[in-house]
Amino acid sequence: MPVLVFAESANGTFKKSNFEAVSYGARVAALLNTETFVIDFENLSDDVLKSLGDYGATKVYRVTNDALKNFDAGLHAKVLNDVAQKLNATTVIFSFNYSGKAIAPVLAAKMNAGYVAGAIDIPVMEGSTMKIRKNVFSGKAIALYAIHSDNKIIALTPNTVAPEKTENKCSVENLEIAIKATDSKVKVKEVVKASGKITLSDADIVVSAGRGLKGPENWGMVEEMANILGAATACSRPVADIHWRPHEEHVGQTGLTVRPNLYIALGISGAIQHLAGVNGSKVIVVINKDPEAPFFKAADYGIVGDVFEVVPKLNEAFKRFKAGA
Ligand SMILES: Cc1cc2nc3c(=O)[nH]c(=O)nc-3n(C[C@H](O)[C@H](O)[C@H](O)COP(=O)(O)OP(=O)(O)OC[C@H]3O[C@@H](n4cnc5c(N)ncnc54)[C@H](O)[C@@H]3O)c2cc1C
Repeated sequence: MPVLVFAESANGTFKKSNFEAVSYGARVAALLNTETFVIDFENLSDDVLKSLGDYGATKVYRVTNDALKNFDAGLHAKVLNDVAQKLNATTVIFSFNYSGKAIAPVLAAKMNAGYVAGAIDIPVMEGSTMKIRKNVFSGKAIALYAIHSDNKIIALTPNTVAPEKTENKCSVENLEIAIKATDSKVKVKEVVKASGKITLSDADIVVSAGRGLKGPENWGMVEEMANILGAATACSRPVADIHWRPHEEHVGQTGLTVRPNLYIALGISGAIQHLAGVNGSKVIVVINKDPEAPFFKAADYGIVGDVFEVVPKLNEAFKRFKAGA
C-alpha cells in the first residue's frame, strides 16, 4: 500500500514545499516499508515530474483533465480519492499550504481517514497507530496526535522538516480518472495571478508591515526593503482587511503561516494571532516605536523607533552593504 503525495507546480516547476512533502512522504513510506507515489494534475514534462525522484518519489502519476485546470478543492479531493482507491494507497501526504488546507480535510471525510493538519515532525509507529506532533494553541504548545484508522492523511507544515536528497529511481506514468461535469460544484469566472513577486510561503526573507505604516501610500519603503533583500512582502490582518494590501499577504492565525529564515516586522504590535503565523521564523527583527509592544518579546533583534525614520536609513545601509561600500 504505497504512500501517496499530492504535488502542485508553480509556473511549470515545483516549489520547495513540494520537495518537503515528497521527502516527508518517502520517510513515512520507509516507516511503512512501502513505496512513495506522487500525483500531479498538471501536464508537466517527464523531466520536471522525475525531479521529484531526487526527494524519494518512486513513481509520479500524471492525471490530466481540463476540469482540473482551475483549483476546486471538492473536485481535487474526489479525484485523489479515486486515485487512492485505484493505487490501493491508504496514506496521503499534503503540504499544509493553501491547497493542502482546502483539499486534505475533504479527502479525509471521503476516505474516512484520520487527519493531522500541520504536522511538524516525522511520525512514529506504535503497532498500526501513527503518532505525529503538531503545533496547537497558535504555536504556543505542541500536541502528539495519534491516528488509529487504517486510512491516514497528514498535511506537513512548510519549513519544518528539511527535504532530504536520495538517489533518483523515479518513473512517470499517465493515469486516467473519469470526471463527470457534475463532479465540480465551482464555476471559475476569472483567475488573477500575482506575477514578478517572490512567493510568500517559499520566501527565505519576509518584510512585513502593519497599521503602524499609517496608510497604503507608505508601502514604498517596505517594498524597497523587500527588493533590496530579495524578500517577499507580508502584512498584518487589519492592513489586509482595510485593503491597504492584498489578502494573500496577510499572515497569522487566519492567514498564511510563514517560517522564513528572517522575518522583519515593521509597525506591527505582535498580537498572539499575528505571532501564530510567524513565530516559526528562524530570526525575527522588530521595529516599533512602542518599547512595550508585545512583538519585542518574540524578537531576536528589536529597534525601538519610528519606522518612517528607521526604515529609510536601513534601506540606505542595505544598499551600501550590497554595493560593498
Ligand atoms: C480571531 C482573530 C483572528 C486574527 N487573526 C489575525 C491574523 O491572522 N493576523 C494578524 O496580523 N492579526 C490577526 N488578528 C488581529 C490581531 O489581534 C491584531 O489586532 C492585529 O495583528 C494588529 O495589527 P497591527 O499590529 O498591524 O496593528 P496595531 O495593533 O494597530 O499595531 C500597530 C503597531 O504599530 C506601532 N506603530 C505605530 N506607529 C509607528 C511608527 N511610526 N513606527 C513604528 N511603530 C509604529 C504601534 O506601536 C503598534 O504596536 C486576529 C484577531 C482575531 C480576534
